[in-house]
Amino acid sequence: MDDVKAIVLHECGGPDVLSHEEVPTPQPGPGEALIRVRSVGVNRTLDITIRAGEYPRPVAFPHVLGADPAGVVEAVGADVAGLDRGQRVAVFGGLSCGRCRYCVEGHDEDCVNRRYLGVHQWGGYAQYVVAPATVVFPIPDDLPFADASFIFRHFPTAFGQLEASADVQPGETVLVMGASGGLGLCAIQVAKLVGARVIAAAGGDERLEVAASFGADFTVNYRREDLAARVMEMTEGKGVEVVCENVGDPHLWQGAFNSLA
Ligand SMILES: [Zn+2]
Repeated sequence: MDDVKAIVLHECGGPDVLSHEEVPTPQPGPGEALIRVRSVGVNRTLDITIRAGEYPRPVAFPHVLGADPAGVVEAVGADVAGLDRGQRVAVFGGLSCGRCRYCVEGHDEDCVNRRYLGVHQWGGYAQYVVAPATVVFPIPDDLPFADASFIFRHFPTAFGQLEASADVQPGETVLVMGASGGLGLCAIQVAKLVGARVIAAAGGDERLEVAASFGADFTVNYRREDLAARVMEMTEGKGVEVVCENVGDPHLWQGAFNSLA
């Protein structure tokens, strides 16, 4: 196959460091799949922060970003079963080592050698991407590729935070900060699926409308209202059992912590 187009980084900086270039078509090694990319997200941390040079661990240049590609299987390497050419797939970008104690015991979500597609190896800002077949999953024919990228980026994290870490129970109340972001919208849906009540918090009224449309029971604008006071009103003075905090704004932490039961 000829060279293919990719968005290549040779240095960190503003958006103009994203360079549209031709690169050799990647080839799938044993256990890997080559995917023709049809969609990829723009993630605040894994794309924008790395591109700007603000990610704590520098990437090796030249680099191709893109943590959550979805597309069509073009080819598979040796020792790959269950994936066929032409199959619609999405990639889970969290790559576990398969060798550490947690991986061996089947808890690869706790892998101590976790790597990320688009960070530690070239990602999906390209016509083609290679990924380990173990993180490539078939998707339904009627699921748009862009939706698949979104789902694979955020739902595993939302389930991990709310079910595995916080162990949210039916009837509990969950405060979701940054509720209109990708992860926030998934957290709302996971909490509702479990049977919890959801208070969606965000910094704009139109964002809260989006959060409500995804199932939030209550909304609060933390840029305009006293977050903890409003949460206490909504919970009859009790507070929430769980706060889902993915914003990282120190100005919001106190209100979030003070909302806890
Ligand atoms: Zn591992």
